[in-house]
This record gives sequence, C-alpha cells and structure tokens, in this order.
Amino acid sequence: MSDFLNQINRRKFILTAGASAGAIFLKGCLGNPPDSTGGNSQAIPTAQQVANLTPEQKPETETVKLGYIPIVESAPLIIAKEKGLFAKYGMTKVELAKQASWGAARDNVEIGSAGGGIDGGQWQMPMPHLITAGLITKGNKEIPMYVLAQLVTHGNGIAIADKHKGKGLGLKLDGAKSLFKELKSSTPFTAAFTFPHVNQDLWIRYWLAASGLDPDADVKLLTVPAAQTVANMKTGTMDAFSTGDPWPFRIVNDKIGFMALLTAEMWKNHPEEYLAMRGDWVDKHPKATKAILKAVMEAQQWLDNFENRKEAATILAGRKYFDLSSPEILLDPYQGKYDMGDGRKIDDKLMAPYYWKDEKGSVSYPYKSHDLWFITENVRWGFLPKDYLANNAAKAKELINKVNREDIWKEAAKDLGIAAADIPTSTSRGVEEFFDGVKFDPEKPEEYLKSLKIKKAGV
Ligand code: CA
Repeated sequence: MSDFLNQINRRKFILTAGASAGAIFLKGCLGNPPDSTGGNSQAIPTAQQVANLTPEQKPETETVKLGYIPIVESAPLIIAKEKGLFAKYGMTKVELAKQASWGAARDNVEIGSAGGGIDGGQWQMPMPHLITAGLITKGNKEIPMYVLAQLVTHGNGIAIADKHKGKGLGLKLDGAKSLFKELKSSTPFTAAFTFPHVNQDLWIRYWLAASGLDPDADVKLLTVPAAQTVANMKTGTMDAFSTGDPWPFRIVNDKIGFMALLTAEMWKNHPEEYLAMRGDWVDKHPKATKAILKAVMEAQQWLDNFENRKEAATILAGRKYFDLSSPEILLDPYQGKYDMGDGRKIDDKLMAPYYWKDEKGSVSYPYKSHDLWFITENVRWGFLPKDYLANNAAKAKELINKVNREDIWKEAAKDLGIAAADIPTSTSRGVEEFFDGVKFDPEKPEEYLKSLKIKKAGV
C-alpha cells in the first residue's frame, strides 16, 4: 500500500515537475549528492533559473529567517534550503535558525527578524493561535501569526525510562494502573514535554486519560528541555518523555528507555507540526510567502519518495542541523521501522513520518478541523476557557479563521501545478478516530468534549 502510494506520489510529482520549471529541479538537484557534513550542497539554482520567474512570481524580498527545532518535523525546511528549492523560487537568502527550545522560538518570533529574532518557522500546535491571541507572549501582546502548511504527520512517541520495563506500560495502560497509584503516594510518575499546552503535552495527556488516568492528578507533568529529560531518565528522576524522532531511537539505542507507543498508533495520520509565520511579514510579502510555500511543498514531495530518505537522513544528520553521530539514527524510523526497546518491533511503512501525502490525503494542507481539535484539547485541559467552544465553537473558529491561511496554501499549490485531486476541497478532514475508539467530529467539538470521561473543563 505504502509503496503503491509512493509510486503514485512520485509519478504525480514527476508529471507536475515536468509541467513547470521543476524539470530543471529534477535534472539539476536530485542528482547532486549532499556533502557529508550536511552543509550547502551544490544545488543552488543559477541566476538564469531564478530569473525565469514571472513578475507575478518574483518575491518582494529574497531574505527571510525561519526557526526550526532539530527533529524530523523540520525536514521540509532543511531540504528546501539544501536542495536549492527556496532559491529556485527567488528566495535566495533564506536563513534557517536552529532554536534552543520552543520557548526561544516563541521569544524570537515575538521580536521578528528586525529585532534579531525570526519571521516564522516550525511550530507545535496551537502555538501560532496562542501567540496570535497573546496567551503565551510577554505582557500578553497579541502577535498575529498565520499557519501556512502542515510539515509532517507521525514521527513522535512516548518514551519510558528503562526501570519501568515489563510493568505494563504500552499503548494501553490497563496493566500499569497499580504502578501509577503506588508511585502517586510517594514520588508521582513524572513525565516531560518540551512546551506546555501543545502537541507533546496533548499526546501524553490523551494517552493517560484514554486509560482512565488523570494527567492532572495521577502523574506529574512538566516542561523540560529534551537533553535534560534524557539525562534525567538516565539517572532515574524522570519516568517518561513525549518526543519526536530522532529522540525515540536514541533513547532505545542508548538503553535509556523504551517506547510505550508511537503517536501513529494513537491517532493514525494525525496532525503534527506546522509552518507558520508572523502575519505582518506575510501581509507585506505575499509573493515571497508563496515562494516559501512552493519550496516547502516540493521538499515535502521529495521527502515522501522513500528512495530519497537515505539522502534526507544524511543531510539532516549533518553538524549544521541535527548534529547526529550517524544518519543511521534516522534511517529506520524513516522506513517505518521502530525497535520499541521492550521487545516489540514495528515494521510498517504506513507508520513512518509523511510530509506530503498519507493514506488519508494531503499532509501538507492545513485543515482547519485539525486546528479545532488542538483548541478543543486546550479547552479540555483548562488551558483555554470553555467559551471558546460555546455557540458551536464560534470563538475558536474566529481565532482559527484569523490564523489558518489555507487559502494561501491553495494559491501556492495551484501556482506549483499541483493536480486538483491533491488540493483538498474542504477545510475539514472530517471525523477523526483515536485508538481508544473515541471520535472527534469537527462539526460538534462540544459533544466530543462531553463524551470524554477525564477532563478539566466542566462540560
Ligand atoms: Ca513533534
């Protein structure tokens, strides 16, 4: 199925590319090997190729600064840069700035590149919405942000410290409830994520609550930087870590812990991280924004061709980017192969990270229905007031309509020559189903909330 999908993707991509300036990309870029340090490859298009842009396509600026975190979610940005795709669309001076933490990324987007920060980049959800509403910014300043594309699905999981091996900690926790109860009376089970109220926090909460555990009462959850969490898991002071590749592989490989689950098992084809930028930057540079999007879309298509994944791993592992001891660390996860570290092995291409397209359709397109799920979970856990969901989620939808710019995604996709069949016609992906049988109908977020047994919001 997956190979079939990839063949289709590849065929469509070649057809698309052949119909546009992409023919140059295929000849000029795909054949260039990356250098082993993950440094700049020779793939930067020539001035001639850049000059082929029509006046409508020529960006208002060639410069932009995008933040990223060194996990697989950032791959489309890095590949777009290293394969010369940003430059191909006239963005010859894209700077990718590695962020020390999600908090740093938030601080940097608050000041923008003019203040030495960033114009946008990679985000967990719903960070762009929370920044727009002034809920996680200094002095609660509202800084409008636009969500432009989803970067990836899958590629995340929940790691557990080695000392808990064999105690029933898996996707379902029925066999581990006494362990949580026992720990609660002394030192509660402690789990970390890298930023509160967003994906990694929400994944771990969903997982616990699905098994009847209350994440606010039965465990201790806190924000800890990735490296610190791993160090704490080694010394036994941290029990779990909700995180993205390559961390799960490293944790298992270094015998620090094992994987209780992949997020792909919890919610197949789930929304993960996104490309979002400051609204003022996008408003001022509409053509540059589309150029960035086109480059990211091409990078996503390139990444979904599994034949390219070895090369992708080599580029990402480079010193400048993830700085991994070996690209091997990314290779197995990139093929859907996960050694969970507790004897369980997953070998299923459909569990791998996807960037452009998955079994359910577009990965890159930012569905508003997914924004709504992230907002709904924020209401569920009391991070957002429940009036966001009142009157058929009017307040949530108002915020989503301000932030989610799927209209720009569509324009860029059309410009790029993407087949109409690959451009979603609805902003809703429809009803979503989770591993525990719970369903989220984006038409009825309040009913979803009511149906959940464990929550903080009084509905
Ligand atoms: Ca993630």
